[in-house]
Amino acid sequence: MNKRILVTGGAGFIGSALIRHLIKNTQATVINIDKLTYAGNLESLLEISEDDRYVFEHLDIVNFQELKNLFLKHEPDLVMHLAAESHVDRSIDGPAEFINTNIIGTFNLLEASRHYLENQCNNLTKETFRFHHISTDEVYGDLLDGSFFTENTPYDPSSPYSASKASSDHLVRAWHKTYKLPTLVTNCSNNYGPFHYPEKLIPLIILNALDNKPLPIYGNGNQIRDWLYVDDHVKALCKVAEFGEIGETYNIGGFNEKKNIDVVLTICDILEELVPDNPIAKQSGGEGFQSLISYVEDRPGHDLRYAIDATKINKELGWYPSETFESGIKKTVEWYIQNNDWTNSIFKKEIS
Ligand code: NAD
Repeated sequence: MNKRILVTGGAGFIGSALIRHLIKNTQATVINIDKLTYAGNLESLLEISEDDRYVFEHLDIVNFQELKNLFLKHEPDLVMHLAAESHVDRSIDGPAEFINTNIIGTFNLLEASRHYLENQCNNLTKETFRFHHISTDEVYGDLLDGSFFTENTPYDPSSPYSASKASSDHLVRAWHKTYKLPTLVTNCSNNYGPFHYPEKLIPLIILNALDNKPLPIYGNGNQIRDWLYVDDHVKALCKVAEFGEIGETYNIGGFNEKKNIDVVLTICDILEELVPDNPIAKQSGGEGFQSLISYVEDRPGHDLRYAIDATKINKELGWYPSETFESGIKKTVEWYIQNNDWTNSIFKKEIS
């Protein structure tokens, strides 16, 4: 890929993985627009931040005028929009930021793109420009039978987070139909991997276990999610951005349905193997990491099962995940054991 790519939310979990991939494996120039909320961390980009093809712009996408100016300044031919408030629990405690960033922010980005395409860019960019909106499978709601989400599953979001993402997906499709903005939408299942903010299940469990703190599990832990290793998601995003058909939606999934409790048990087993000297580990005479498991009151509106049918992206664009859950989760646990500096940078930010 040899494009000028404006990535929003590039200091977050998936955005930073995307930018590391783009700088290391393509000739693309990347402009990272990020507000640096609690979830944004420039330390996740240290390995590429000095590269000539990388630029950081500290900006809130809710600020329309500044956003518009950035299009003029950087003349992108691809927008990959990941900036969002992304944590369901936070959306229940305080939905306002989710409405602002996920809905108004997306609206601003669509309008800035439209203005740029109609008034400012050259003829070649008019032909090649794409707006890629990165969304979630949570927009489809709960799967109560044994079926899977396809690109035609009706939207039925349950939380303020998923409702705000659903709303932004609708805006993107409307801008394509009404204004012919060349859009692409992807809806992906739960991601996991390195540089993931430790409020989400997998990093929270790993870090709490290493510190011998309780491992909180909502309800009975029987909620089922489809897990995808973040680098596989990034490769899928690049396929769609480069080869996807304008106006289309692609579901992205890991072919890895797991109950939350089974994810936690797997992490405990890996830790027994990787850190046998930890005081809680069985080999050092402790009760074992599983003894830290603590069931807590379920989240309101907690969907039981999400499962993605990723046949379309597989058949049409030839994408399939390369990590199994077993290989990806082991890499992830190893990464957290070896990267205290990154985790400490987050805790320091929280205290300051
Ligand atoms: P994240 O919370 O780790 O990162 C979000 C980033 O957006 C942060 O760097 C934050 O500073 C930035 N941001 C937030 N508000 C902003 C604003 N107003 N202006 C500019 N920047 C702002 O999120 P993530 O897990 O990396 O998710 C990225 C995208 O992928 C989101 O749109 C999310 O809905 C979607 N998604 C995530 C998952 C997942 O499992 N994490 C799965 C499917 C889809």
